[in-house]
Amino acid sequence: MTGLTQTYLGAIIAARDCELGWPLEHINMALVFFKAQNAKKGNAIVITSLDLKHLRRCIQLAEMALQKGDQPFGSILVSADGEILAEDHNRVAGGDHTQHPEFALARWAAANMTPEERKQATVYTSGEHCPMCAAAHGWVGLGRIVYASSSEQLVRWLAEMDVGPSRVRNLPIHEVIRDTRVDGPVPELAEQVRRLHLEFYARKR
Ligand SMILES: [Zn+2]
Repeated sequence: MTGLTQTYLGAIIAARDCELGWPLEHINMALVFFKAQNAKKGNAIVITSLDLKHLRRCIQLAEMALQKGDQPFGSILVSADGEILAEDHNRVAGGDHTQHPEFALARWAAANMTPEERKQATVYTSGEHCPMCAAAHGWVGLGRIVYASSSEQLVRWLAEMDVGPSRVRNLPIHEVIRDTRVDGPVPELAEQVRRLHLEFYARKR
């Protein structure tokens, strides 16, 4: 096991322990950072136990989408003080392929938040933003993005399942928007997302 994997497992265990009712000071002490070197950008990826909790909610939303016959993607918008302001999941089953949760959250933010509030907010999502959603995120001036699984992983999974690539290229967020802190993927959660996609395409066959 690599040092990196051990650190990551430590973060997962700490997050679980927090949910078992540890006092606040222990939760703060247990705030373990998962750091990895982003090979392309040289940026450290930092995932806290609170991030993991929010990402797990995104995966629940992705499961809800799947149960409704939609592609399994889910996202939430969290304010600077940690309040979940809005959440959504994919709604493309009706044929409108712009109905992604990250796009809906960007529009919600534009309608309901000041520019400063948007800048301080974080969007959590089960899968990295597509270029349309990354652009919407950038245009409305939202802050940090945290994702469980990357677009690169999705492309690989679709190829493994013999599903053709999407018409819109799966570019990394950093190739679409500037000046946005992006953290992810998180290996254990990405595996959960992969299983949801497997189930989605298995149902279609
Ligand atoms: Zn999208």
